[in-house]
Amino acid sequence: SPAARAPDTIAAIATAPGRGGVGVVRVSGAALSAFAQALCGREPQPRRAHFTRFADAAGQAIDEGILLYFPAPASFTGEDVVELQGHGGPVVMQLLLERCLELGARLAEPGEFTRRAFLNGKLDLAQAEGVADLIEASTAAAARSALRSLSGKFSEEVRRIVDALIDLRMLVEATLDFPEEEIEFLERARALPRLEGIRSELEGLLDRARQGALLRSGLNVVLVGAPNVGKSSLLNRLAGEERAIVTDIAGTTRDALRETIQIEGIPLHIIDTAGLRDTADTVERIGIERTWREIERADVILRLVEADASDEVVGDTIDTRLPAGAVRVTVVNKIDLGDGQAAREDDAGRVRLRLSARTGAGIELLRAELLRIAGWHAHGEDVILARERHLQALREALAHVAAAAEQCAALELFAEELRLAQESLGEITGEFTADDLLGVIFSRFCIGK
Ligand code: GDP
Ligand code: ZN
Repeated sequence: SPAARAPDTIAAIATAPGRGGVGVVRVSGAALSAFAQALCGREPQPRRAHFTRFADAAGQAIDEGILLYFPAPASFTGEDVVELQGHGGPVVMQLLLERCLELGARLAEPGEFTRRAFLNGKLDLAQAEGVADLIEASTAAAARSALRSLSGKFSEEVRRIVDALIDLRMLVEATLDFPEEEIEFLERARALPRLEGIRSELEGLLDRARQGALLRSGLNVVLVGAPNVGKSSLLNRLAGEERAIVTDIAGTTRDALRETIQIEGIPLHIIDTAGLRDTADTVERIGIERTWREIERADVILRLVEADASDEVVGDTIDTRLPAGAVRVTVVNKIDLGDGQAAREDDAGRVRLRLSARTGAGIELLRAELLRIAGWHAHGEDVILARERHLQALREALAHVAAAAEQCAALELFAEELRLAQESLGEITGEFTADDLLGVIFSRFCIGK
């Protein structure tokens, strides 16, 4: 329900836990001038840095730092926002936060600041998701395309298509009263060419969004092969200089069995199955089970063999649990011991790459193969960091546009399909989004965002 009453005041530590030079407590609510004054002892000037001493209720100093006051609506959330910058220690931050709670704030829920920004029209939903995706980006390329979503580029393109749909709908609906002229009307208004234009715009956007989804989630690669065939060496060689910045993202605990590297900014989550055989330690069982579940979701299986050995040597339990749907590539390693000729051989879709992890010969063939399997063909700046839900909405919109093209003899149905396409696109920006979906989206944000 639209909030008739003023929003309550929320507060959270916005900086990462742990120690840092500076830590930030962020507060958002209605009419926070008095709140800020209680913290810094004078009336705060909008958007000015106030160097001040933060005191507790008894007047005892907690910390010295900067207070910033952003009156509504010119703030991140669109409400009054107060930001306290103190020394970035966990105890100091906790005390500052508690002081804010004493002054009447309550603890913010995950993503609540961004949710308020969305509800106040500061950001649309795709932009809000861009905020979270930028924070969680695991490669520089992913971060750049998250920033494009955050700054509204994705939403702009969605809106452009929505506008084209609306124009066409208006035309169609204006003639619904003259049924005998329907067919003629469609021809005169060039409705079908226009619909075709919308369809090709949508397809282009979906393609770029798919590329972005790839940047976001990457590819799962499993390395299999006998001991000493060169799995670890190949992994190191592939990682090269581009080892991913792997961060401690909530919910994705790192473990020794899985390593993330990147090729052209695409995260490759690589599991070296050797790690699975090496241990029977019960403590590691849980990690191993998790790894098995990831193996069952693999996109690519790289099977390593040595240049002079036969292919089908590994007939153990790993084979039976490898997903049938994954793309399989045989890598013939250690060609430096033989003729040294790197090559890609394609025998009716069964690809074999001959390379050397030691010398690096043929590694570029493997990189190209992985990019090809991923379906990566984008050129940097166009990519949109999309989520599965965005892809889904774009696919639905496309289906309705295609259905409209089939209905050109019945204008009501034609118009209805256009309306449905528009509604699907509206889900991306949040114009037609159910409250419970919003809850799910924002609950995955970190606290303080
Ligand atoms: P893993 O057990 O499959 O992980 O194999 P390693 O990567 O640990 O490699 C086993 C041995 O093979 C090491 O001595 C490596 O130096 C060697 N090795 C790996 N790749 C090559 C290669 O391309 N050429 C040669 N000559 N030796 C290699
Ligand atoms: Zn190894």
